[in-house]
Amino acid sequence: MSKHFLDKAMARLAHDAPELQPGHVWLAGAGPGDPGLLTLDVLSALAQADALVHDALVSDKVVAVAAEAEKFFVGKRGGRLSIPQGDINALLVRLAKEGRKVVRLKGGHPLVFARGGEEALALAAAQVPFRVLPGVTSAFGGLASAGIPATMRGINGAVILATGFAADSDDRPDWAALARTGQPIVIYMGLTHMAATVADLMKGGLAADTPAAFVENATLPEERTVVATLGTLAEAAHREKVVSPSLIVVGHIVSLREKFGR
Ligand code: SAH
Repeated sequence: MSKHFLDKAMARLAHDAPELQPGHVWLAGAGPGDPGLLTLDVLSALAQADALVHDALVSDKVVAVAAEAEKFFVGKRGGRLSIPQGDINALLVRLAKEGRKVVRLKGGHPLVFARGGEEALALAAAQVPFRVLPGVTSAFGGLASAGIPATMRGINGAVILATGFAADSDDRPDWAALARTGQPIVIYMGLTHMAATVADLMKGGLAADTPAAFVENATLPEERTVVATLGTLAEAAHREKVVSPSLIVVGHIVSLREKFGR
């Protein structure tokens, strides 16, 4: 039945999806998991691609839309990048120079903590034409799905998206400074260094009883939200066996979830 609605809506919209030319690369975002969060242009890109370079965070169902494409899986296995970033950049350039219609598909948004920017730079340097097809980033898809508003009048006037995994000092957020803004923080890739991140946020003045939550497998059938406080995050992760992919949300927006009846 829902298929029927979608066909009807597509026919009425009559959207002229852009055409993927041979020798071009589209850096596309698949959203956090639920296929319903794909954009129309990403969906049509998948149907046009003859080469699909994709990551682990993209579901099989979405990959399967690219039925005519040769698939190149370049994701992480067991938490480790199976293929160095430089090789992925080189692969994209090579496929484009061969005249393929290339879609580079990543989970969420391709330019949010996804190294899409490095790929764009490599394509620009090699004079390969490319465009970016945005996707719903997991913070916004995940918060919505968990019943947590990203902004709420009277609570926050900003929302911070941060990575918990930045290895080098250039990207590593100044957690104490972020804490001092008093604005909610959504942390990507936060599980590995969670203890240090929590300690730094508290050093910055965030109270231990600040509401916090994990949103695990957001927008997927196995989605789960675990509510805690900043001070009890580590304990909750351990007790509930929180696994990746998971977002950590810290801030008073989390307490709205209950009031929304979730
Ligand atoms: N480009 C992606 C982020 C890639 S970094 C985006 O825009 O969402 C990978 C991190 O994203 C994971 O460690 C996790 O924190 C988060 N993430 C991605 N998909 C997720 C999902 N379905 N549920 C929860 N977190 C997710």
